[in-house]
Amino acid sequence: MPSYDQNNIFAKILRGELPCHKVYEDDKALAFLDIMPRAPGHTLVLPKAPARNILDCPPDDLAHVHKVAQKIAKAAIGAFGADGITVQQFNESAGGQVVFHLHVHVIPRKAGEMMKP
Ligand code: 5GP
Repeated sequence: MPSYDQNNIFAKILRGELPCHKVYEDDKALAFLDIMPRAPGHTLVLPKAPARNILDCPPDDLAHVHKVAQKIAKAAIGAFGADGITVQQFNESAGGQVVFHLHVHVIPRKAGEMMKP
């Protein structure tokens, strides 16, 4: 597996070199809105520590990212009137990953809407 690239776009966001619409932050994780949302409120949750994806992320960081994803999922029910939540995470190009800093998608869904994958 390739090693972590410090120049990936999310590393730049984490360093404050590029802007984001921040939704949540703590000492170990950052969450911000996806620039091409598949639904209103589509949020990405990242560990602050470098990790390419699930294959090299320390288990504690991975667990924390999912705890934050859970908080955001619960908040999205109230904030967006979501009827359901998709939680998605891609690993390596063959697994659909495009940006190589681990991130979890939290996507609010409405009943009866066409669902983009
Ligand atoms: P993935 O690696 O999960 O397949 O896709 C990367 C996700 O990051 C996509 O949903 C894409 O819209 C989002 N994304 C890519 N570049 C940026 C960016 O500069 N800012 C934000 N907020 N989202 C981005």
